[in-house]
Amino acid sequence: MVKVNKNYLKLPGSYLFSTIGKKVREYSQAHPDAHIIRLGIGDVTQPLAPAVITALHGAVDEMGKAESFRGYAPDLGYDFLRKVISDKDYKARGCDISPDEIFVSDGAKCDCGNIQEIFGAENTIAVCDPVYPVYVDSNVMAGRTGEYDAESGKFHNVIYLPCTAENDFAPEMPEEVPDLIYLCFPNNPTGAVITKDRLQKWVDYANDHGSVILYDAAYEAYISEEGIPHSIYECEGAKTCAIEFRSFSKTAGFTGLRLGFTVVPFDLSVEGVSLHTLWARRHGTKYNGAPYIVQRAGAAVYSAEGRQQVLKQVAYYMENATVIKDGLLKAGYEASGGVNAPYIWLRTPGSMTSWEFFDYLLSEANVVGTPGSGFGPHGEHYFRLTAFGTRESTIEAMERIRKL
Ligand code: PLP
Repeated sequence: MVKVNKNYLKLPGSYLFSTIGKKVREYSQAHPDAHIIRLGIGDVTQPLAPAVITALHGAVDEMGKAESFRGYAPDLGYDFLRKVISDKDYKARGCDISPDEIFVSDGAKCDCGNIQEIFGAENTIAVCDPVYPVYVDSNVMAGRTGEYDAESGKFHNVIYLPCTAENDFAPEMPEEVPDLIYLCFPNNPTGAVITKDRLQKWVDYANDHGSVILYDAAYEAYISEEGIPHSIYECEGAKTCAIEFRSFSKTAGFTGLRLGFTVVPFDLSVEGVSLHTLWARRHGTKYNGAPYIVQRAGAAVYSAEGRQQVLKQVAYYMENATVIKDGLLKAGYEASGGVNAPYIWLRTPGSMTSWEFFDYLLSEANVVGTPGSGFGPHGEHYFRLTAFGTRESTIEAMERIRKL
């Protein structure tokens, strides 16, 4: 008799964005004339940069000629891409990460979700609360989290690290020492960042206690302030305790094209086993490489003109972030984020829950955002707006919210 993986049944409700999609669909059917503005899902709206398009065209032409055709890509990524990542993202920032420590993939979501496979089932995990739901959900599927408690909104075996206004939305060390620590900065959904001093404390903590930090830096390109680390490897000792995830999705609008990478340093071992070796084995067995044309497009992001073009896109979104944050503050909301990240985190008015505010904003302003409670128990009474819309729709949405 076939058995299903019953851990899946422990996942509470449907995935956050499916629930939002369903609510918006139902509202649109009931109100066909409503012009709904979506500042909810974190997908980008700007087209790919010209340098990326040129690289894609060039690579497609190469694939059409026998002498330059490429079949399977190397498991870990083409050298031309891994070298430029090593040089520009790491060595240029003083981080000694070699091309061979970089694993190219089709995005950070898969890597963040899959990385737990190389760790034993008995490990405890800690997550920022609130945070991107993939870390907890992928550990639930793997049977690492115990049962879900609907009342607290928590899984029994997960250590939640509260990120609140009191600690500037960057977590303190927990009393119980976790084995795996997921940190995400700039943070989705709060838009908060962590200072280098505070991140260094986490690195020291992980090295002292034998924990591994899984550091998601998908929004690194949005950091605008000095003193905020772009990579965990800017901290001393991180190569013996941290894995880092990066994505081209928000940096260069690759949400549909798909490209990302993970850094697993050679110095990182657990129980005498190299995590680099385990991840290489996993990658080689279950993944056949990101497409050549997409890796060429990724390399174009690092060219002088590509870099300039994607920085312009990031600046465009960050101007939206300013429009949203200023608009909210003027309208009397408590709002943070939006300076080093494309997310603005606002406190819901009065005692409204996150979902009540979602319904209120949808029905009264026809604006869609994301309820904070979908990101963890400490997200309750908060709400996320994203800066990835067009300028016109962002201004229009803020005008509607102001009129409320
Ligand atoms: N990590 C975080 C924190 C995210 O918010 C997202 C996307 O929203 C991802 C990873 C996924 O990135 P990718 O598109 O590369 O899979």
